[in-house]
Amino acid sequence: MRALVTGGAGFIGSTLVDRLLAEGHSVDVVDNLSAGKLSNLADARADRSNDLHIHQVDIRDAAVADLIERLKPEVVFHLAAQADVRVSVADPILDASINILGGINVLEGARKAGTRKIVFASSGGTIYGEPDPASLPVTESAPHRPESPYGVSKKVFSDYLHAYRTLYGIEYTALALANVYGPRQDPHGEAGVVSIFAGKLLAGEPCTIFGDGSQTRDFVFVDDVVDAFVRAATRGDGILFNIGTGRETSVNELYTSMAAAAGVADAATYAPARTGELDRIALSAAKAAVHLGWKSWTTLDDGTQAVIDWARSGL
Ligand code: NAD
Repeated sequence: MRALVTGGAGFIGSTLVDRLLAEGHSVDVVDNLSAGKLSNLADARADRSNDLHIHQVDIRDAAVADLIERLKPEVVFHLAAQADVRVSVADPILDASINILGGINVLEGARKAGTRKIVFASSGGTIYGEPDPASLPVTESAPHRPESPYGVSKKVFSDYLHAYRTLYGIEYTALALANVYGPRQDPHGEAGVVSIFAGKLLAGEPCTIFGDGSQTRDFVFVDDVVDAFVRAATRGDGILFNIGTGRETSVNELYTSMAAAAGVADAATYAPARTGELDRIALSAAKAAVHLGWKSWTTLDDGTQAVIDWARSGL
């Protein structure tokens, strides 16, 4: 398969690129390197340079549509995004210009290229807004009422995908990702707390938990998420799927797991809760199990150990 990965130099995108190359596919990466790093693709460039081409371009640039038309990918994995909820609140126009208008440039390129399918990284942590705790884990049929500009841009782009499918027959699958964590993550994304804790624990500094630590997230490991993207290249047409573990993990529980992985016995310190953050979330992935044959398999302890080992190898 000839694949194109937007955001392919980022945390999740570069892990997806590694997997696609390992399966023998040829991969074009489109990334402006605003948050992504070429070092994330260093192994891929060393091992498979013939099958990997990196295009440093902004998806807001109209030229990106011509580029995609020329490259003629069979499948486009669209992960490039302004991925920080707080930035979207501070600058909603920037968020929409990248996540909506930039996304439309990618769609236009795919349309002109005759691309068979687009697999999109949506956000299960934001498109549903603050879910009713009684309804956890959230299913895809819950109301989609995002409470941040980022959540809105992710929700709206799924509507564009549906429109392009109807108008032009381009297939799509949207993956509403939970809080993805793993090696290569930087501290600014949706599950940035994992990489922040890793850095602090290895530096021998105290980790700060905001609030009492009982707030929950659905932490899903990056390799499991990448597996969902690969499955979605050939299955689950026209559907939005939650990609999560279905399990709530409190920040206290996360800290305990990470401190154990790092061999640190100290307790975390606590600071006042930050406003505007979700209290509890977990995503049901039952639909992905049926249509994609997917479920997460990495335990929290195995995943946090992988993050600590990776962070330690970079010291
Ligand atoms: P990331 O910031 O590491 O990756 C995003 C990539 O997009 C970066 O490489 C960045 O350089 C690139 N990019 C940003 N703006 C661009 C532009 N204008 N033109 C071209 N490239 C641009 O973040 P990530 O955590 O790997 O997230 C990947 C995708 O998954 C994003 O769409 C994000 O919204 C989504 N997502 C992530 C999580 C999570 O927990 N990490 C959860 C839900 C959804």
